[in-house]
Amino acid sequence: MNSHYEAPLDESIFLLKEVIEWKTLFEYPAFNHVDEDLATAVLSEAAKFTSEVLAPLNEIGDSQGSRLIDGKVVTPDGFRQAYADFIESGWPGLDMPEKYGGQALPLSVQVAFAEMVNGACISFGMLPIMLRAAATLLLEHGGTEIIDRVVPNLVSGKWGATICITEAQAGSDVGRIKTLARPQADGSYHLSGSKIFISYGDHDLTNQITHLVLARTPDAPAGTRGISLFLVPKIHFDSDSQNQVSVSRLEKKMGLKASPTCVLDLDEAVAYRIGEENRGLNCMFTMVNLMRLEVSIQGPAIASAACRKALAYARERMQGGAPDKKALPIIEHADVRRMLYIMRARTEAMRALVFEAAFNLDVARADADKENARAAKQLAELLLPVCKAAGSQTGFDVANLAVQVLGGHGYISDHGVEQYVRDARVAMIYEGSNGIQALDLVTRKLLKDEGQRYNIFVNRIKQDITRFENIERCKLILSGLHQGLQHLSSSTDFLLNCKPEAIRDVETGAADYLNLLALVASSWMWLRMVAHVDESTEFGLSKLAVGNFHTEHMMPECQLLSERVMLGAGTIDSLSSDVLAG
Ligand SMILES: Cc1cc2nc3c(=O)[nH]c(=O)nc-3n(C[C@H](O)[C@H](O)[C@H](O)COP(=O)(O)OP(=O)(O)OC[C@H]3O[C@@H](n4cnc5c(N)ncnc54)[C@H](O)[C@@H]3O)c2cc1C
Repeated sequence: MNSHYEAPLDESIFLLKEVIEWKTLFEYPAFNHVDEDLATAVLSEAAKFTSEVLAPLNEIGDSQGSRLIDGKVVTPDGFRQAYADFIESGWPGLDMPEKYGGQALPLSVQVAFAEMVNGACISFGMLPIMLRAAATLLLEHGGTEIIDRVVPNLVSGKWGATICITEAQAGSDVGRIKTLARPQADGSYHLSGSKIFISYGDHDLTNQITHLVLARTPDAPAGTRGISLFLVPKIHFDSDSQNQVSVSRLEKKMGLKASPTCVLDLDEAVAYRIGEENRGLNCMFTMVNLMRLEVSIQGPAIASAACRKALAYARERMQGGAPDKKALPIIEHADVRRMLYIMRARTEAMRALVFEAAFNLDVARADADKENARAAKQLAELLLPVCKAAGSQTGFDVANLAVQVLGGHGYISDHGVEQYVRDARVAMIYEGSNGIQALDLVTRKLLKDEGQRYNIFVNRIKQDITRFENIERCKLILSGLHQGLQHLSSSTDFLLNCKPEAIRDVETGAADYLNLLALVASSWMWLRMVAHVDESTEFGLSKLAVGNFHTEHMMPECQLLSERVMLGAGTIDSLSSDVLAG
């Protein structure tokens, strides 16, 4: 029972079909080989595959973990066979170009698939994320020779890939990386240094692994302007011998135990530069952004899995009620219902928001109208840090609530919900911690472009308010959304009016601002969901009730968040660091 997983197929199809309106995508030349039937069939097959093949790995992956044996990483029982089945079915290349063996489906369909993979077994899902992101990076920044050699193998899943940024002294502060890249006479480079926390830095699922590594050439300027990007194959391309890349340590960690987190040592490892020298971080952002979108869906993925377990348990578990009568199922108790409503309200809104971000990336890529494409790209850029931070927070919080609903039976490992808490936690840290996402949102996405992206976001919401304002069942959500927008507007004005010397005020309010924007965006998603349901169905009734709950119980937080955004740094900076640390 622990590993049981039921993919949210109906929910995903509802969102893609009715709310995101994927039929508009299928009209673009880039996607006109796809139609609703094909995309639905793919996701139905995915639901089956993830629950039958991947979900059984989740518990054993957690209890066994990946192991380092004689310098090589061995994945838990069953992972090799499941990976072989995964690539045999062509799942790694769902949204990759047909020219390289992919199926060129929209990213919004891929993201729905990614939710299923991560909900079934997030440790397994960590590898395919990197294959697609690395292939996309190479297609954008690599030379023809590297593309032809590497990309088809990533798209087929025959080769693995990693993203190697972090070093002991360079976590969030990427500019401090020290790994050295020495140019060689033949145009290649030799890399030396140590990368830490590298996911799937080594494993036994593929023979070859292509590491995408940030390093600096000998005379590179300090900071992020002196970073270049390199591809380091585990096995030399021109011989079958091993490159000078080794795993010196496998981290023991809180969750995600089957996903090997490696210290990778590079000792004059042969490497090939990707993109221009000193422009490596810009190139790497292609990979990072795509991975951030996938990390965004990891939150709702775990939240949804946890939610389903909590709902099923709450219907079965009998506690409370009059002593002379049969005990009640705990789903009857108000406090348990409150928790279940919160879980659904947050999970379903975040899933919709991540789909919306992916949809806009699809439009940005496929729309020939430059203005439409630009607006879609800018909206996606604003939503990305919000989806990453609020999505991962939702995954953790909802999993935590699931433990509460199950009581002691949630805290022990029998039902698998405590594993969700442990597995979900890291998504708030990797791919840029949530604090860094908040800074990205307020400094780059809001202040630097003087609110342009923000205006696109608000105008889209206002268009939908006009579109749905006459639908009676949307009235409550509409009023909550109006109020939320007012609080967001006050906070945005406050931030935009902060003088450069008041940057501490901006930084202090960043996390609350992100949460405020996420709440308003969630309300926008609830409006669109409720506007599209048929109230005479159970599905429609249920959406309406949860949407109204979101408005009544969660939207009042907008006021609190807005007030906190506008507090500034006064109290935060009232103690010196020495006194604060005691
Ligand atoms: C399981 C796991 C897998 C990972 N996989 C990979 C991988 O595959 N490849 C890879 O390269 N890395 C990977 N990482 C590393 C991950 O990306 C980093 O842990 C993350 O970027 C944060 O860096 P750090 O841990 O050094 O924390 P720090 O940078 O030390 O941050 C600690 C805290 O300080 C805050 N902080 C730091 N700087 C600032 C600032 N300027 N302003 C405000 N707050 C700040 C952060 O928000 C955070 O809360 C992985 C990590 C884990 C745990």
